[in-house]
Amino acid sequence: MRKTICILPGDGIGPEIMAQARKVLDRLGARQGCTFACTEALIGGAAIDATGGPLPGDTVAACKAADAVLLGAVGGPKWDTIDPAIRPERGLLGIRKALGLFANLRPAKLFPQLRRACFLRPDIVADGLDVMVVRELTGGAYFGEPRGVEVRDGVRVGYNTMIYDEHEVARIARVAFEAAMRRSRRLCSVDKANVLDVSRLWREVVIETARDYPEVALSHMYVDNAAMQLVRDPAQFDVLVTENLFGDILSDEAGCITGSIGMLPSASLGADGPGLYEPIHGSAPDIAGQDRANPLATILSVAMMLRHSLDMPAAADAVEAAVSAVLDAGWRTGDIREEGCRMAGCEKMGDLVAEKL
Ligand code: NAD
Repeated sequence: MRKTICILPGDGIGPEIMAQARKVLDRLGARQGCTFACTEALIGGAAIDATGGPLPGDTVAACKAADAVLLGAVGGPKWDTIDPAIRPERGLLGIRKALGLFANLRPAKLFPQLRRACFLRPDIVADGLDVMVVRELTGGAYFGEPRGVEVRDGVRVGYNTMIYDEHEVARIARVAFEAAMRRSRRLCSVDKANVLDVSRLWREVVIETARDYPEVALSHMYVDNAAMQLVRDPAQFDVLVTENLFGDILSDEAGCITGSIGMLPSASLGADGPGLYEPIHGSAPDIAGQDRANPLATILSVAMMLRHSLDMPAAADAVEAAVSAVLDAGWRTGDIREEGCRMAGCEKMGDLVAEKL
């Protein structure tokens, strides 16, 4: 078996964490008799320095030709003051668009070993915290037309349009139902159907889509309540599906309460073609080049890639089990350190996970 992966290390800690992901892939390949053929391409600030733009055509072509794309992070102070049209983040938006990635999957999982890092009271997370937020990524208020700022009758007015057609809702709903089928088969659709017309359509279409997934228990919740319930009783949720703007906020909230930004992976999927996998954190310029970054979010992104794009669910389980075993053995990077732990740098953490495999 041969799988092709396009690796985009990016900036800051990107190259360091990506080196650890490659270690894990190499080890896994050797163990499972599978070849992971990795090509590297430029994105973000590194691409600006080399080519003058954040997303060279070669990078887009290499990503499209691969089975999956693994991204580190982009950006840093060096490029903060350049022309906004070619900032590093443009590379990220550009590659998402080029690959047609409309579904963003963000698991927020509290590893029992890291319970003390969680921002919630211990009794609230006594039953654990393991939520998957499925966010629509290409529609809603962030992209809807018309939009703008203009002067009307001498007064400045700003506006955006939150718009979805039924096909956009149905395709993200399907991704969420499929995710729920792989987990505990509970899906909560989050909207604001008591106020927004676009949410009424959202809810209607989600209910229609549910007919194809009779095994999944579907519920609905208004977004304001969902934001509250996530901190009051997160164990009630398995998979949450919601539109772009609500999902932007709820996925950050769900991830943040785990207390460990260095532990959170993500996946972005399109209708077909390669998915893109990346840690949710940024390029952490404050610790770049110091062997202090936590590579586990990236390694867990590799697990998501194995599961969602490479059809290797057993290998995905093995990677997650290896991460858990390393935490069980007391190893921690600086961001998740606690009393009595064994400290590891980025390199060492990568070695430990690869060894456990
Ligand atoms: P950040 O996520 O890079 O860092 C926030 C804090 O978390 C920092 O103290 C950092 O040291 C720490 N941190 C982040 N990842 C870590 C890891 N793996 N291990 C240990 N500690 C970690 O966010 P920021 O500081 O707001 O942004 C820095 C740069 O990254 C900016 O240029 C920003 O635009 C960019 N950014 C990129 C992405 C992306 O590529 N997807 C996402 C967010 C921010």
